[in-house]
Amino acid sequence: VEQAYLARTPGSAALARQARAVLPSGVVHDSRWIRPHGLYASRASGAHKWDVDGHRYIDYFGGHGALLLGHGHPEVVEAATRQMALGTHFAAGHEAEVRWAETVCRLLPSAERVRFHSSGTEATQMAVRLARAHTGRGKLLRFQAHYHGWQDDMTAGYASHFDGTAPIGVPEAVAARTPALDPYDEAAVERRLAEDRDIAAVIVEPLGAATGKVPLAPDFLRALRRWTAENGVVLIFDEVITGFRVDPGGVQAAVGVTPDLTTLAKIVAGGLPGGAVAGRAEILEGLDFEASERKGREKIYHPGTFNACPVSAVAGTRALEIIERDGACARASALAADLRSRLNAVIAAEGLPWLVYGEASAFHLFLGDLQAAGGRAGFDPRRLGREGLQAQPPDLVRQLRLALNLEGVDIAGWPGGLVSAAHDEADLEETADAFA
Ligand code: PMP
Repeated sequence: VEQAYLARTPGSAALARQARAVLPSGVVHDSRWIRPHGLYASRASGAHKWDVDGHRYIDYFGGHGALLLGHGHPEVVEAATRQMALGTHFAAGHEAEVRWAETVCRLLPSAERVRFHSSGTEATQMAVRLARAHTGRGKLLRFQAHYHGWQDDMTAGYASHFDGTAPIGVPEAVAARTPALDPYDEAAVERRLAEDRDIAAVIVEPLGAATGKVPLAPDFLRALRRWTAENGVVLIFDEVITGFRVDPGGVQAAVGVTPDLTTLAKIVAGGLPGGAVAGRAEILEGLDFEASERKGREKIYHPGTFNACPVSAVAGTRALEIIERDGACARASALAADLRSRLNAVIAAEGLPWLVYGEASAFHLFLGDLQAAGGRAGFDPRRLGREGLQAQPPDLVRQLRLALNLEGVDIAGWPGGLVSAAHDEADLEETADAFA
């Protein structure tokens, strides 16, 4: 596979060589690193992207989740390019940020107020700061393997640090204030929330780790809502991926559980950089000049050069309007269900010990030990638990990804992908053929 890949991608190989001289490992995002080298893309449209060697790929990486509408939706492109000409930064308020905030508040049940950022990482950081300011408490409770960005508070408890040790470059003191619990040990979560009076907030990926790769039951979200309310703890749903994807109102609308704060990015900015924290007015008041004056309380400091960049604001607003108007969430979810069953049919026909599963517009490939995971009939991804994300044989995942690239399909490395509303039946059929 690797030899064929090298032979097919000389242009990407050349760029990767040049990149290594100036970028660590030649990449700008950890999950784009793969041996022998990743693809270098030159353009994209709808459900497809093209590499510098001229090959077309059906794209399931989906802009890391930003592209529910696919690449370059004409109405989003039109809005963004018009705004580019009008101005990309006014260092002043602009109408687009007001309309963007109104749209988020209209769609998302928990959103009474919004503050914009440039990324999801910034949004989750601000959510924690708001919660700490609101409660006067210090700790952030999180769940093993749930991803919330790469800043210090969110890196502790991720990847190989379930044991609470600090990742390299993160102070031990930070790791100590961000305990990562096992979400499947519900009694321990309930107990910790009842007993530890220093917990400011709980943050959770509401579909479960990695967009439902290790899923959570809606009942757990209901229980979390109850336990946090009982103990004065701020509940944060990290809907950076799921917001406007699972439903125009996010997981919170789909399951009817309203968190105190919600973090957003990706789809919210219509395929451009952007993020937001939204939630209860009373908590967002921490950022409010007049309220802080009135209450004689220090305001939370929050500048940010590109907060609500006008181009992201118009692209995001337009994308959210289209999602609402065109039923994009339902379409992408239906296509993903179809793709999951097509891939499982291939697996069954080939007699492989693998499985494809997932919710909404996500799909996850399980290439681990299916027998140990309960077999085809007894497979319950919740039981994959904390090791679930790491149970995949890394070289098999790598070879599968390269082999799919050879067949004109690009998936993400978890391994799995996201289906957009721009995919169609022909894409799914071609993908199943490629997979076979
Ligand atoms: N939270 C979740 C659930 C995410 O999936 C991501 C990004 N993959 C982030 C936060 C961080 O967002 P960003 O990459 O925009 O900083």
